[in-house]
Amino acid sequence: MNIPMVDLQGQYKRLKSEIDTEIQKVLNTSSYINGPAVQEFASDMEKYLDVKHVIPCANGTDALQVAMMGLGLKPGDEVITTSFTFIATAEVIALLGLTPVLVDVLEDTMNIDPEAIKKAITDKTKAIVPVHLFGQVANMDEIMAIAKAHNLFVIEDNAQAIGANYTFANGDTKKAGTIGNVGCTSFFPSKNLGAYGDGGAIFTNDDELAAQLKVIVNHGMTVRYYHDYVGVNSRLDSMQAAVLKVKLPHLDEFAKARNFAANYYNTAFADCEKITTPITASFTDHVYHQYTMKLHNVDRDALQQHLFDKGIANAVYYPVPLHLQKAYQDPRYTAGDFPVTEKLSAEVMSLPMHTEFTEEQLKYVTDAVLEFIKK
Ligand SMILES: *Cc1c(COP(=O)(O)O)cnc(C)c1O
Repeated sequence: MNIPMVDLQGQYKRLKSEIDTEIQKVLNTSSYINGPAVQEFASDMEKYLDVKHVIPCANGTDALQVAMMGLGLKPGDEVITTSFTFIATAEVIALLGLTPVLVDVLEDTMNIDPEAIKKAITDKTKAIVPVHLFGQVANMDEIMAIAKAHNLFVIEDNAQAIGANYTFANGDTKKAGTIGNVGCTSFFPSKNLGAYGDGGAIFTNDDELAAQLKVIVNHGMTVRYYHDYVGVNSRLDSMQAAVLKVKLPHLDEFAKARNFAANYYNTAFADCEKITTPITASFTDHVYHQYTMKLHNVDRDALQQHLFDKGIANAVYYPVPLHLQKAYQDPRYTAGDFPVTEKLSAEVMSLPMHTEFTEEQLKYVTDAVLEFIKK
């Protein structure tokens, strides 16, 4: 058997007639940039997320950069984020000349530690960037309370948890990415809501900020060829919007399929002391962008090879914490500074996760893992 990390082929085959029709519509109108498909998708997404503004852009990294530009963050401003994330989060902070301030994560959820955020705040802190890692939402009750107390912006990196629901302590619920001042997501093909190329979007309920973000993604242009701001060129193209428009109504069903696979894995590994299966915090549901387990006293490299030999894809997200990346070396940080992140980097391993599994395939994966672990 051959089990890829994501089964984009299988999902396309299932949705082929709908997707082909929408792509053909774009071809028929030849409206490739800012065409009707883009507006329709943005408006569908606003309804789905229950958020006032969805601003499509070229990718998730741009979404983060444009959000920070739109909030007026300036060189020297400190932005607090997690040391355990994909590089894009810190990359845009560095590119804008802002100062990334890294903090550790919680061992159970692997999401940013609110207590660590509190300790990292200085009079230069301007924003917090929680990353809803692997598909569950960080503790937004606490993060929003900290932000309020210190007058900070909250920029949610929601590239991995699109469609997840967050339940506040008072019982209210909101979609991930619509809780802070601004939310950012990616439509990279392997993300939960994936295009057939690059794509991204920014969400906000703030009218003024939305207007600013729309200007920034379009070269800082307010009136055609009049540029009031330095902007960027960051667009979602109509072909991608057509694909996303078809997939959006399936997003909740995708999350169910991912949960089915995760539950299968969890059950299979329940009695295995060498594996800690993912934990979902009480205030969030999990959309399993990744199924990331922790290994104890297991030779991870050898397990990875064992699975590769059986045609089973697997990966380590992420093997090197941000503060130990070569490009991000910083005299403020050294090995040992973020012990939970460093421990997780050594322990985690992600198994194939997508929307198209059969039970037979899941059994093949779990049997192969257990065969190695129990040896
Ligand atoms: C994928 C991802 C991004 C970047 O998205 P792109 O569309 O690839 O630019 C940012 N943050 C996180 C956490 C991601 O997983």
